[in-house]
Amino acid sequence: MTTETATAPETHAFEADVSKLLRMMVHSVYSDRDVFLRELISNAADACEKLRYEGIATPSLLGDDPQPCIRVLLDADQNRLTIEDNGIGMTAAEMGETLGTIARSGTKAFMERLAAEAGKEGSQLIGQFGVGFYSAFMVASQVEVFSRRAGSDEAASWTSDGQGTYTIAPVDLADAPTRGTRVVLHLMEDAKSYAERYTVERIIKAQSGHVPVPIMLFEKPD
Ligand code: ADP
Ligand code: MG
Repeated sequence: MTTETATAPETHAFEADVSKLLRMMVHSVYSDRDVFLRELISNAADACEKLRYEGIATPSLLGDDPQPCIRVLLDADQNRLTIEDNGIGMTAAEMGETLGTIARSGTKAFMERLAAEAGKEGSQLIGQFGVGFYSAFMVASQVEVFSRRAGSDEAASWTSDGQGTYTIAPVDLADAPTRGTRVVLHLMEDAKSYAERYTVERIIKAQSGHVPVPIMLFEKPD
């Protein structure tokens, strides 16, 4: 047990560059919004790969769930799309470091290119670079992330409507994956088709065929 755990929700402002990027996402006229799913699935696969690697030195991290898996849950009634993995997971502190800044490779390259090509339509660069996690805000009015890091006995959530702040809070273990990360997208009105099997299957086949982790599709969780 750690003793430094936050017990109350904490709201933080995004870095200025993230806010700029998010505004671009939300107001995107980019036609190929499908790329958000590729990005979230690739993060899930990366998380499984990180766990596999850490599991070599520390096999106990794999517990009784050694097979990597990505679950995609469709809920058309609730207008929700969920991507869940049993990978390495994130602590509350890691969520704050990675889902609020722009330090990461892909997104950073995108922002640099955008600055270099000032005046050009940013949307043209989105598909080219893959803007990572934040691309979820092209289709979601709210994004919730529930995560539990491998080996941790605590879980946390990260929530944002992409409007300048995000909130990190501790959650009950029952509200997070046993290990790994659940990303819940509350879809915008004009993005409802991303809760439909036909659309999601098509995108996964077209864009995530090479992913080395099995992807399972479910309808209506719970
Ligand atoms: P990149 O994948 O290029 O690092 P992203 O914006 O896609 O950038 O993701 C940012 C970071 O957030 C990742 O590097 C990772 O640390 C963290 N992250 C995102 N999704 C997950 C996930 N499903 N499991 C664990 N960590 C994640
Ligand atoms: Mg990524």
